[in-house]
Amino acid sequence: MRVWISVDMEGIAGVSHHKPTSRADPEYPAAAALMVGETNAAIEGALAGGATDILVNDSHGGMYNLRPADLHPAARVLQGQKAWSMVAGAARRTNGEPAFDVALFVGYHARAGHPTGTIAHTYTGAPTETRLDGRPTGEYGFNALILGAGGIPVGLVTGDDALADEVAGWLPWAERVVVKDGYGTSAAASLHPDRACGLIRDGAQRAVERAGRAGELRLLEVGEPVVIEVDYHVALEADYAAIVPNAERVGDRTVRHHGPDAVTAYRGFLAGVRLASIID
Ligand SMILES: [Zn+2]
Repeated sequence: MRVWISVDMEGIAGVSHHKPTSRADPEYPAAAALMVGETNAAIEGALAGGATDILVNDSHGGMYNLRPADLHPAARVLQGQKAWSMVAGAARRTNGEPAFDVALFVGYHARAGHPTGTIAHTYTGAPTETRLDGRPTGEYGFNALILGAGGIPVGLVTGDDALADEVAGWLPWAERVVVKDGYGTSAAASLHPDRACGLIRDGAQRAVERAGRAGELRLLEVGEPVVIEVDYHVALEADYAAIVPNAERVGDRTVRHHGPDAVTAYRGFLAGVRLASIID
């Protein structure tokens, strides 16, 4: 059983404000240590559920947050600046076969524009709302879409209560672990890290066990052609995002990315968000 684990930071128990998620903040090392703790809990649960190969994709900020020596030795870690960001390696099939059997999302958060989600955003601070197939979604949705294109189901999502609500709609088959309640974008009521890690360990075990039973987990798929829309804070961000191929400026601050398939639409979306995020 091959397990791919993507770990973000904003949804980790004990992280309630965006400042400690930035490398320059004096509290960053403490936040990174909490992230390592939840990552190891997921690895331990995956092993208990039958994992034989585990790849951890460090998925926050510069994507080299996890101190390798602190991670469980059973896993490999994928770190650094990745063109494919949070889904690096997941869409690639070998001889038509998926690269992994199940994906686990740890430390995830609600979409841009969620009213109560802790540090709710989608990829960067530029979007105010992101939609797939006309429905608001966030990183969990876009990442699940690309994993689905690669034949990999999402079995576990951990983060706050707002995220769990959203995931219930998009990925109803996935295990959901709530480690904190969001009280707005910069506040949360968290479980103690030890309790959060216990829940994540159990959730990861259940997810990997269920991945071994046919029909329990599903792939996220939407109808083709695939449409991803992004609302931005300001018009100039939308101007920049709309320069990518297959993009259409559909409103004062809105860009629509089209693709004949999920991966093509996602490539336009990711490129657009990155371009929008470089303006002053
Ligand atoms: Zn994130």
